[in-house]
Amino acid sequence: MKDKFNLVATAAAGLEAVVGKEIRNLGIDCQVENGKVRFQGDVETIAKTNLWLRSADRIKIIVGEFPARTFEELFQGVFALDWENYLPLGAKFPISKAKCVKSKLHNEPSVQAITKKAVVKKLQKHFHRPEGVPLQETGAEFKIEVSILKDKATIMIDTTGSSLFKRGYRVEKGGAPIKENMAAAILQLSNWYPDKPLIDPTCGSGTFCIEAAMIGMNIAPGFNRDFAFEAWPWADKDLVQKVRDDAENQANYDIELDIMGCDIDARMIEIAKKNAEEAGLGDVIKLKQMRLQDLKTDKINGVIISNPPYGERLLDDKAVDVLYNEMGQTFAPLKTWSKFILTSDENFEKKYGSQADKKRKLYNGTLKVDLYQYYGERVKRNLN
Ligand code: SAH
Repeated sequence: MKDKFNLVATAAAGLEAVVGKEIRNLGIDCQVENGKVRFQGDVETIAKTNLWLRSADRIKIIVGEFPARTFEELFQGVFALDWENYLPLGAKFPISKAKCVKSKLHNEPSVQAITKKAVVKKLQKHFHRPEGVPLQETGAEFKIEVSILKDKATIMIDTTGSSLFKRGYRVEKGGAPIKENMAAAILQLSNWYPDKPLIDPTCGSGTFCIEAAMIGMNIAPGFNRDFAFEAWPWADKDLVQKVRDDAENQANYDIELDIMGCDIDARMIEIAKKNAEEAGLGDVIKLKQMRLQDLKTDKINGVIISNPPYGERLLDDKAVDVLYNEMGQTFAPLKTWSKFILTSDENFEKKYGSQADKKRKLYNGTLKVDLYQYYGERVKRNLN
């Protein structure tokens, strides 16, 4: 089997650079592209990136890339790849995804069927199995994905399983939870560091608070779940266990954190508490029912991160206008605090009553949103 892989970490549009930075922080060189970050490595790299990347969606192995303008080219291209180095006899290998963009080949079900045929034929040849007799697929699963962009096919195997944003701690969610990896990325785009107070005044199921505590304590985001590659016979179990043990040793549970989440809805606070407990952070994060309009603090140099209701999702337009206006008035006295507010409302600044120092376009799922960034006074002075 293989010991070096071409790998890719997929990321939501706008978050690629954050994922790239996280990969470099693991000591891995990488190249940032649209929607993905490329890097190379071995099974240990696959384990580490799955376990540690906070902002990525998935880690995939690139089996090969080639031009595919016709079904014949696609078939021959897939057949030529060294599948025998990835798929043991008995492996299950569904072509789980095919995506064609700006390409002559556009019938995705046919692309899936041709790819499957080519892999089957290659394995039948390699394992001396008779053609015409289907391969038994009863073993570990390797999900194969095909992406054809501008007539170039990229053939990948997913190593992750259910997406990396599913950390395993969210037992319940509210009406419009933010994805865990998006929350982690926004925290890294903010100027919050574990020595500063953090408040999420509209915390819902507690995602920002939990992700912040995990960053603060250096807890690997994937510690509470497993990954598709762990079922593969050639992924050395001891090595993967070592990566998990190392992660456990690197966590710092003693660090003092000042993280608070509030929500107007008592039910949401109960859910947030359950999630925090599931993540092992029940004692670390303060969670309480409170209206954001009642937020007051004597602390300084903190960070507020909020993902308030947007018109499309949770509240009617009039109520949103009032809420954003009251938010502006409530936050204004907290001059040394930085505020990061994520909303799809394009008139947010007007309603809030002041112009953001910086705006960043992101996607919450398919919904276009902006991160409005207001820097606390000390930060502003440093910037001038
Ligand atoms: N980021 C959260 C989702 C936030 S949804 C998560 O990941 O789960 C917006 C939240 O704002 C809802 O839970 C809603 O109850 C809360 N909310 C609405 N109006 C509020 C107010 N005036 N004060 C505090 N919270 C409010």
